[in-house]
Amino acid sequence: MTVLEMRDVSKAYGQGAGRVEALRQVDLTVGAGGMVAVMGPSGSGKSTLLTIAGSLEEASTGEVLIDGAPLSRMSRNDKARLRRRMVGYVFQDFNLLPGLTVAENVALPLELDGVGARAARAAAREALDGLRLADRASRYPSQLSGGERQRVAIARAVVGDRRLLLADEPSGALDSVNAEAVMRLIHEACKRGMAAVVVTHDAQLASWADRVVFLRDGHVVDQTAPLPGPESLLTPGQTS
Ligand code: ADP
Repeated sequence: MTVLEMRDVSKAYGQGAGRVEALRQVDLTVGAGGMVAVMGPSGSGKSTLLTIAGSLEEASTGEVLIDGAPLSRMSRNDKARLRRRMVGYVFQDFNLLPGLTVAENVALPLELDGVGARAARAAAREALDGLRLADRASRYPSQLSGGERQRVAIARAVVGDRRLLLADEPSGALDSVNAEAVMRLIHEACKRGMAAVVVTHDAQLASWADRVVFLRDGHVVDQTAPLPGPESLLTPGQTS
């Protein structure tokens, strides 16, 4: 089942001489369980692609569909609900609230969406269990390592029945061991049925994805299966 579909999407910022075409005629489809890595030089449109996929900005032309529903036909309220319920975001700098515990941070998106405290806590516990963070639930972010904080941010992005995970260099601030761990967790979330789009600069990390999309000047210039990566090491004899 297709979770994210971008059809012929272009995005321009500014007007006249200051006009920048951040995305040009991008087609991208990600199904449930699919993990796509996006690579490209600075300014090539990677963050713009994520913000449009997550309905934080509108495409100038083209159409974005999430679970088959076109964003262009949704009201602002519909889109806000979709962002709260269906989409999880992970950023480079974690964005956890320092005054809340790990469990409270993870439960927060659900509570903001009107889910009762008990149900939100149960869902948070499940997300934390799934990321092997249950023993950190009552700590505060300042009591965690950078790698642990990013794992909590991933738990917050997958809590509840989210369908689409959008990550903008989620491992950019981490050492290589923690960076691999973050990609593995995103990969595991996909195996449980989410669709993910992950921006990364690192080809080794991109190899966790099923597909790598290369952007240049707003165009998709290539889409390939990644080189055999960490997964192939886990399953000897399998090369993709
Ligand atoms: P990347 O994430 O690959 O570095 P971006 O998507 O951030 O690229 O940016 C693509 C292009 O769009 C760049 O030229 C950038 O300056 C421009 N751009 C991005 N966001 C805005 C904005 N809000 N206003 C004007 N220009 C923008």
